[in-house]
Amino acid sequence: MDKFDVTIIGGGFSGLLCAKELSARNLSVKVIEEHNEIGYPNKCSGVISLKTMQSLNIPISKNLVENRFSKIVFYSPSGINFSLDFKGNEIFVLNRYNLDNYLAEEAIKNGAEVSILSKATSFLQNDINVKIKVNDNQTLTSSYLVDARGANYYGDKMGLYNGVQAYAFYKDFDSEAIHVFFDKTIAPGFFAWLIPINENLAKVGLASKLNSFEFIKTFFKRLGIKNYIKINFSPIVVGGVKGNLVRDKILFVGDSAGQTKPTTGGGIYFGGMGSILLAKAIYNKILNPSISLVEEYEKKWILNFYKEIKLMKFARNMLENMDNNVIERLFSIAKDVLSNNTSLNIDYDLHISSIIKYIGVKNILKISGNVFGNTITTILKSLITK
Ligand SMILES: Cc1cc2nc3c(=O)[nH]c(=O)nc-3n(C[C@H](O)[C@H](O)[C@H](O)COP(=O)(O)OP(=O)(O)OC[C@H]3O[C@@H](n4cnc5c(N)ncnc54)[C@H](O)[C@@H]3O)c2cc1C
Repeated sequence: MDKFDVTIIGGGFSGLLCAKELSARNLSVKVIEEHNEIGYPNKCSGVISLKTMQSLNIPISKNLVENRFSKIVFYSPSGINFSLDFKGNEIFVLNRYNLDNYLAEEAIKNGAEVSILSKATSFLQNDINVKIKVNDNQTLTSSYLVDARGANYYGDKMGLYNGVQAYAFYKDFDSEAIHVFFDKTIAPGFFAWLIPINENLAKVGLASKLNSFEFIKTFFKRLGIKNYIKINFSPIVVGGVKGNLVRDKILFVGDSAGQTKPTTGGGIYFGGMGSILLAKAIYNKILNPSISLVEEYEKKWILNFYKEIKLMKFARNMLENMDNNVIERLFSIAKDVLSNNTSLNIDYDLHISSIIKYIGVKNILKISGNVFGNTITTILKSLITK
């Protein structure tokens, strides 16, 4: 029987970042990953901002960074488009397979154990510790258990989208921008993307509540894409945090905890910040048992993102209910509003607050009133001003 300060179920991004942070503080850490390889399957686009790279201490290295951009172009169903400039906070596209392996190596260098082909089949806490059954034939004992099992273990099916992404050979798009497409016939309730890796190859994907494979075939056709490789289907979490992040000695982080952006499902920033806060909180708790993990982890994480998540959930709800005519109207307005501004300095991570700040509360409410009517605008006003 093995005993650790912390056992982490899930050797994905959040679990491994948490392991790196915990082991850097000299705690004994075991990560168990059910797959036979760390970083596999590589399902994620890996798009994050410079601010996220810095906040999470991810090095800007050739091995991790596949491409970098300062521009995102948005397209309406009819092809109206406008671009946002992220010059102040560049956007990086990371290789998620390499990123997860980098984090695993760092954690191992610090003394953590990372085991592959190890599936947690059950776990149970008592007054003293947590016991975890692995592959039904091994028992681990630890003071704390971190549940970082990912989107498949997010409790609310309604808060999940079916994501799909492939590496595809593209042409006719600017290789120096990320391209994002809003169209109910391609990605109902969500959006589709083309993220160039170089002048020929791009990560191309979308999400929907329905059969994403049918939608991606239509999307490929529309983009003129004939050849693609490494297609992957994985859930994307957009429902936000639902339950408690701290359940005594069992702590939740990353996608299984709902720590993603409800607008895009992006989880590297929110989940990564969760991992860092959680590692600090466990360390402090082990040093000083009288402190509360709820105060040190759960409340701090929620306080960081509460307002942005409320606005993102509102935006998500609107997007899910918008038809293509409304999308076209919003694009026409956005094009007008943005026509004189090439450099906006939008915060990629807290994008809704940042856009409201840029356009101004009064103007946002006016646009909302014109497009969505009074009831929705009153709700929006209360969310912005609360
Ligand atoms: C198509 C797509 C594109 C995305 N693009 C972006 C993006 O551009 N930017 C961004 O920020 N986010 C993006 N995301 C979201 C991002 O990938 C997730 O938020 C992130 O991977 C969450 O990390 P995690 O560690 O919580 O979960 P995961 O990375 O899913 O890791 C969970 C791990 O737990 C393991 N596991 C599960 N159960 C067990 C068990 N019982 N025993 C042992 N191991 C177990 C799994 O095998 C897995 O390795 C995207 C997601 C998808 C699907």
